[in-house]
Formats: sequence, C-alpha cells, structure tokens
Amino acid sequence: MHHSRDTAPLSPRLLYAEVERLGRAYPALSPRVLGTSILGRPIPLLLLGRGRQKCLYVGTHHATEWLTSRLLLYFAEELLSAHAAGERPYGLDLSFLLSRRTLCLVPMLNPDGVAIHLGEGEGDPLRERRARMAGGDFSHWQANARGVDLNHNYNAGFAEYRAVEASLGITGGAPTRYSGAFPESEPETAALAGFVRATRPRLLLTLHTQGEEIYCAGEGAHPTARRMALLSGYRLSFPEGAAAYGGLTDWAGGVLGIPSFTLECGKGENPLPPAEALPIYRTLSRLFFESITM
Ligand SMILES: [Zn+2]
Repeated sequence: MHHSRDTAPLSPRLLYAEVERLGRAYPALSPRVLGTSILGRPIPLLLLGRGRQKCLYVGTHHATEWLTSRLLLYFAEELLSAHAAGERPYGLDLSFLLSRRTLCLVPMLNPDGVAIHLGEGEGDPLRERRARMAGGDFSHWQANARGVDLNHNYNAGFAEYRAVEASLGITGGAPTRYSGAFPESEPETAALAGFVRATRPRLLLTLHTQGEEIYCAGEGAHPTARRMALLSGYRLSFPEGAAAYGGLTDWAGGVLGIPSFTLECGKGENPLPPAEALPIYRTLSRLFFESITM
C-alpha cells in the first residue's frame, strides 16, 4: 500500500488517481462509474469478483468524512494484492469467494462535497448560494453541491424528518441535515438507490466517521452486526431520532429488507486527521474481509 501518499486529505482528484493506479496494477479490478455528481464529477464504482451475489460498500456520503474513501481503497488494495499472490488472509479462500460474490465499492459518493469542504471551490452557478448557506466557512460542510445532506435523502421516514428539520430551523439547502425536496432528488443518491434496487446486494456496508459504532437494519442483520462488533471492537448502537431518518441503512435495511450496516469509523472530531486512516483500517480490516462471507 502506498502509505506515503496518505498524509493529505483524499480529494476527488487523488481518488481518481488512486482508482486508475489500482486498475492498472490489478487486472482483477474493474473500475466503473456509478453516476455523475451535480457538478459533473464521476462517482467511481469498483467491481471485484464475478459472483452473482453482491456485497456493496459505500463511503463518503458526508464531505468531511473523506477518510472513509481511503479505508475502502485500502480494503480494495489489500484484497487485490492478497488475491494476486494467492494468499489466504484471515484463512479466507479468496478465489472461491470471488467466484461466488462480487464486491461493489463506491468509495466516494459525494465528490463535490469533498471538493467544497477542501476549498477546491469552483466557479459553478451554485457557489454563491453555498457561501450564504455556510456563512463563508466550508470547514464543516457535509452536503452535496446544492446543500442536500445525502444521507437524509433516501425514502425512509422522509415525511417525519421534515418536522425534525423544522425544529432545527432548516428550511432549504444547508451545510448539513437538509433532506432535499423529495427522496432521491439528488443525482448521487438516485444513482446509488437505482444500483441497490437493480442488484439487491446480500450485504450493504456504509462507512461514516466517527464514533467506533455499528448500527444495522434489515432482516437478520442483528447477529451479523454482533459479529462485526466482535471483529472490530466497535460497539452496537441503536440510534433514534434525527440520526435514524432518511439514511441509506434506514432505507435499504428498513424498507427493502437488505441486511444493512452503518459503521462509524474512528474516534475524534470530523474531519479526522489523514494519518488516522491506516490505524483505523487495521482495526477494521478483518471485519471488511469477513463481511464477504456474511
Ligand atoms: Zn456521516
């Protein structure tokens, strides 16, 4: 793994370079594009394996949480390199598993948000509106390019969440917590939700920072969540209120019944420092690998 590069936040530009590098180094990886962000950035989708059953991993709904994209790149690279070398990490027969399963990694669902948070602002027509939403300070920007919080934009408890928004004083685009005009109103969430409906993954793991917590929804998800907690040392949590509305896990798990898990990676204040990515990955590596079998 190319740890020397990992001292900077993972911008969309760095992400695209990493995806290209992995694609060149490992023929087993198929880099694809899930969709396009509001500002026209590609949303990469990495496919690995040729099984009918899909395991889907999603990073960076929230702009300050780009570290989760790095975690998924580490996972992809460790898996690809072990597979190429014929190794059996954690005793797993990767060749067999990858004939039965296809891993689908969406490392960065919100590339526009990350660019905005990192100050790689662009002269797009929404820029002034965003500056008003954020009071000119993008250090806590979580949303996409028009101020929709992507992890409140799925069709789960959407109407109920409107009341929560009102109580928070949110009536439109904002740096965080605005759910959008209607479910899947954003190209980023529409692309991902369409992919979930089309592929019906057997497991959906969504990464956020921070808190060292796991929560789950969907049929039979609880025993798997307990196993994940055991493998990572993270604690199980069952959030109520604002955190449980409109999220990908709430929708895919609670509405579609797909075993769905949210992993709150690491501990500290967002954005976590780039140097934390590798130690956090080490804590989660076994969970990621074993999740292929879950
Ligand atoms: Zn988050």
